Amino acid sequence: MWCTYKVLVFTLVAASHLPPVYVLEFCPSAEPDCHSREDAASASQSSTHSVKSRWSVKSSNVTHNLDHFKVSCKKLIDAFPVDEVDGNFVRTVKNCIFSKSTPTALTGPLRLAVVSKDVIEGILDLDINVSQSEDFLLYASGSRLLPGSVPLAHRYGGHQFGYWAGQLGDGRAHLLGQYLNRRGELWELQLKGSGKTPYSRSGDGRAVIRSSVREFLCSEAMYFLGIPTSRAASLIVSDEPVLRDQFYNGNVKKERGAVVLRLAKSWFRIGSLEILSESGELDLLRNLLNFIIKEHFSFIRLDDPEKYLVFYSTVVNETAHLIAQWMSVGFAHGVCNTDNFSLLSITIDYGPFGFMESYDPNFVPNTSDDEGRYRIGAQAEVGLFNLEKLLVALSPVLTQEQKKQAKLVLKDYRKVYQMRIHQIFKAKLGLVGEEEDDNVIIAFMLKMMEDTHSDFTMTFRELSEVSANQLHNRNFTQMWALEDLSSHKLFSDWLNMYMLRLSRQQSDSDLDRQHRMKRINPRYILRNWMAESATRKAEKNDFSEVELLLNILSSPFVTQATAEKMGFAARPPRWARSLKVSCSS
Ligand code: AMP
Ligand code: MG
Repeated sequence: MWCTYKVLVFTLVAASHLPPVYVLEFCPSAEPDCHSREDAASASQSSTHSVKSRWSVKSSNVTHNLDHFKVSCKKLIDAFPVDEVDGNFVRTVKNCIFSKSTPTALTGPLRLAVVSKDVIEGILDLDINVSQSEDFLLYASGSRLLPGSVPLAHRYGGHQFGYWAGQLGDGRAHLLGQYLNRRGELWELQLKGSGKTPYSRSGDGRAVIRSSVREFLCSEAMYFLGIPTSRAASLIVSDEPVLRDQFYNGNVKKERGAVVLRLAKSWFRIGSLEILSESGELDLLRNLLNFIIKEHFSFIRLDDPEKYLVFYSTVVNETAHLIAQWMSVGFAHGVCNTDNFSLLSITIDYGPFGFMESYDPNFVPNTSDDEGRYRIGAQAEVGLFNLEKLLVALSPVLTQEQKKQAKLVLKDYRKVYQMRIHQIFKAKLGLVGEEEDDNVIIAFMLKMMEDTHSDFTMTFRELSEVSANQLHNRNFTQMWALEDLSSHKLFSDWLNMYMLRLSRQQSDSDLDRQHRMKRINPRYILRNWMAESATRKAEKNDFSEVELLLNILSSPFVTQATAEKMGFAARPPRWARSLKVSCSS
């Protein structure tokens, strides 16, 4: 019987030995865009119902008005040739990294829907009250430029759904500039939905409320889940009509424009390098690579002849880690094109993403993805495809020997990914140390979840909350996901195996196990129906549910009375089954 479970969806094979790779410290210290799940868990466990800040910013340390808030584009403009052609008309751009492009103000009254206190105070050093001002509304919507800002649109390309798509670029995003905060961190501020740029192709440069609510909430939710991600500072909605054919069936509807102010240490993507390599702009390719290494991979010396190989190796490893983290919370990005894969290995460009509910490796969040290319169970392989494309882009600046080495690095990608997945799922099950059959326990459980359509999040969560005694007696009252799982005909076999394994963890108490597991298995994720419900209200200018979701998802590992009342940890409502998300945004 075990054999059936040994070759399974995640092929959970522990790496027998680790390849010689250069790995960035996995989630060092308290880096806001790269921190351990433990950090996020403890940050989100301090209290229950309010917005948490893990920055403990004293109010005296934050700025109370925007007069002194400045950004700078100097570093970026000085580093690269900038396309000086004026105007936001669509064109092919060559020999530059950025185009100057001014945001187009949204029409109609602007309304601040929501802000992230954690970002406003913790990253931008601003008193949260500043976000309620008219000035903030104008700055964060693209109606007025922040002091120091020379807004830029980034030129990049990419492979979309497996094919080279040529020039893409920021078609509806404007990089406002970099902000150096009190912690010495440099953050790039970007508006999304702020109007046309030279890269808008046939688009209108806008983003609608539903996709902006989703991007805002998911960025913040992912952060609090402990997953490397871009951040969202604010969401502003307007009355500007925006036409969208949401399901590409000819049913064009009038929606409303919105703008998210989002932040990342860098917005460079695999596609940023691909376009330069594709068009033979090799000096610029080296220039951009050196810039990225200097700014974001400071452990690599610029005079190291192997620097590009070390850079590549780091991106390969960090991408494997990122995708393993996505899988650990059932996150499917939805559009894993190379233009949506960050070179810093953070989650960017939230579109038709989805958190898997019933466990299903074939879960496809994006209804426009007919072939299921970006189904959840294929993300690791798609990551490999994207990293192959990155290697193609780097090839002109690598020696023959380095190319050979890079291929070996890529060959080890699956091993690194599987090792990380193995570690994570062991932790999700509360397993300490390493035993021969750990893979079997994990894969067996996932297969039972698949067969019984058990909820991915709540099965692991309830397993974290259930006592060993309850488990032994199969007492799953009020534990709906475990009830589902236990309906499997082999559940008793698995349970015996699991409980025996736990019983061998001699210095581990049952309470310790539960505590550990509750810090890694969230109770709340951004389910589609939750985002949908909040969006429907937001479209009527009622932002209370967006705010509520932000609060709750800021503490995903803590049971919260309001969330329970709202049914956020309950079986998803019936109406949620018919919900669909498409690329339209
Ligand atoms: P995405 O799939 O959202 O990552 O977008 C792929 C490309 O299409 C990027 O270059 C975007 O900037 C561009 N794009 C998407 N939507 C729009 C829009 N409404 N207007 C202009 N460009 C867009
Ligand atoms: Mg994108």
